[in-house]
Amino acid sequence: MALNLIMLGPPGAGKGTQAERFAKGRGIPKISTGDILRDAVKAGTPLGLRAKAIMDRGELVSDDVMIGIIRERLDRADVAPGFILDGFPRTVAQAAALDTIMTGRDALIVVDIAVPEGELVRRLASRLICESCGLNFEGEAAARETCQRCGGKLKQRVDDNVAVVRERLRVYHRNTEPLIDYYRARPTFRSIDGAQPPEQVAAALVAAIDAVANQGSAA
Ligand code: AMP
Repeated sequence: MALNLIMLGPPGAGKGTQAERFAKGRGIPKISTGDILRDAVKAGTPLGLRAKAIMDRGELVSDDVMIGIIRERLDRADVAPGFILDGFPRTVAQAAALDTIMTGRDALIVVDIAVPEGELVRRLASRLICESCGLNFEGEAAARETCQRCGGKLKQRVDDNVAVVRERLRVYHRNTEPLIDYYRARPTFRSIDGAQPPEQVAAALVAAIDAVANQGSAA
């Protein structure tokens, strides 16, 4: 059975870090729509030029554009053993389109990483990103000056300043949190506690995903 995963959770919940780690462990691609957009901005493509101002304000790029990106990405051969989506879907329209894209494939496993609001603002305001390779640094790791993966310089994400963080959380509550209700009734939905230390979140994620995958193969 292919491990087709999506991670829900507010900005700052640790989705990116956890998705990266899980993807490496299982040899499946991590597909982050935020990374795809940031790469497009850096490369100055038409998509990047359109997306930049929207991202800088903490708003959402249009559903049509995002659904097109994901439809194309999930057509590639490397997703045969599965994939982990980070940052998509972010609206009910995106989730509905993803269900259509998934027709005839193994079921989606949906994991929500839940973190209290106060903790999110604290985390987001102290988060750094490598300007060369895009790796995220949080908590103690954000005290570094250079990237442990590529040696690049670390800087604050443009959309991590306090006003934009508030806007991104507002957008999350309005547009993305309803996805929990969209998926909750499915037997493949799990919610885990994202306020624990990253090691424990990683263990909870593995346990939740394996439990769902095993229930699928036992059925
Ligand atoms: P992220 O790195 O996932 O926090 O994404 C950074 C920014 O990219 C978001 O604040 C949005 O502006 C944009 N973005 C990423 N994924 C999506 C999506 N699925 N739908 C709309 N906008 C997105």
